[in-house]
Amino acid sequence: MLKGKEHWLILGALGLAVILALVLRAFPEASLTSFLVEGCRFLGELFKLALQMLIVPLIVTSVIAGIASLGGMEGFGRLGGKTFGFYALSSLLAIIVGLILVNLTKPGLEDGKPNQVIAKAFDDSQETAGESARMKIDMAMGDSERKATDFRDLFRKMFPKNVFAAATDNGQLLGVITFALLFGIAITRLPTAQGENLAATFQGLNDAMIIITKWVMALAPIGIFSLIVPVIFDTGLELFAKMGRYFATVVGALAVHFFVTLPLLLFFLGRVNPLKHLGAMKTALLMAFSTSSSSATLPVTLRNVQDNAGVSKRTASFTLPLGATVNMDGTALYECVAVIFVAQVMGISLGFGEQFVIVISALLTRVGVAGIPSASLVAILLILKSSGIPNAEAAAFALLAVDRPLDMCRTAVNVFGDSCAAVVVARSEGEDLPRLAR
Ligand code: ASP
Repeated sequence: MLKGKEHWLILGALGLAVILALVLRAFPEASLTSFLVEGCRFLGELFKLALQMLIVPLIVTSVIAGIASLGGMEGFGRLGGKTFGFYALSSLLAIIVGLILVNLTKPGLEDGKPNQVIAKAFDDSQETAGESARMKIDMAMGDSERKATDFRDLFRKMFPKNVFAAATDNGQLLGVITFALLFGIAITRLPTAQGENLAATFQGLNDAMIIITKWVMALAPIGIFSLIVPVIFDTGLELFAKMGRYFATVVGALAVHFFVTLPLLLFFLGRVNPLKHLGAMKTALLMAFSTSSSSATLPVTLRNVQDNAGVSKRTASFTLPLGATVNMDGTALYECVAVIFVAQVMGISLGFGEQFVIVISALLTRVGVAGIPSASLVAILLILKSSGIPNAEAAAFALLAVDRPLDMCRTAVNVFGDSCAAVVVARSEGEDLPRLAR
């Protein structure tokens, strides 16, 4: 194996991918270009599929084995309370940072007036959008219509009618986790010999899944290279210039949460060295950045948190699968900034009360956003529509067109937020974590 050097290889692969993609963009017509780009696209797809293949068996076995070792409802309730408490706190802080920055930089205004260039870009994006963008927005519109009238859907997701069907659907991991949690608790209620046998079986299954995860992770440099080449080739770097202030606001706010807020929480609540934790999470962060999917990254997050940060299996297997599903600091922050940006472009001035509603909506909807690329679009549409902001659909097309680089950044923040929760909860449960010592 690569023994601690893998992040350098991954970083190198990332740099090479950017260079290759920019060179290929200079020769768009060459047949070698399409051969290389399509080849990378296919390899990247295979790598992501391999990661996704691990998710359900890994979550089920690690949650069941982890909970079975918790010793019944008592430990479970305490751990659950702390985990959800930390998730609510860190997401709220993330949203507040986004809210402050977007009100300071006002990316949707030009000389104090709604930016007409961006307003026109909204309409243009709607006209020039490709088929796949149209399908995405149509689906999101359908969803948001339904969800707008029914917030209870978030809770329905917890109890899927058919747990096997939920396991085959990317967006339904929450139901799978509920089932695995209940199953793990049930094991602790069985007669001793029976319970121990079952717990050992799930532990064995989980250990086997971890071995497969390590095999897939060994391919990360190639996988990430293949994922990045087509992204840069398709979008180019000019994207960063378009809607520049909006990009800077989102990335700046994400950076504050990533480099200031979460490290402070780690330092004061977790009493650990934030830099050491950042180092421990390098591979997962690069993976999140390249795949734009916190679910696909989950196998790597679980490994980094346990093997590098030293968090126990018991804590990691409870906090991380839940976090990948219900806790998204970067997404919540992004939703808030995006909605206020669109309101500014549309010339709607939002008062304190209205912004407060947006904060609460971002906090609630982040629970329902799936850990897959561009998933927050559904929540943004929902908030735009429920806040009565016009032209929501056109704005969604424009946001989708420039979404990928922002998605990469916010997914890394989502994954880092989950890993910080695992560390803080582990410390509060009396775990030492010497590898993260201050
Ligand atoms: N791509 C994000 C994630 O997987 C979700 C989103 O904000 O779209 O965490």
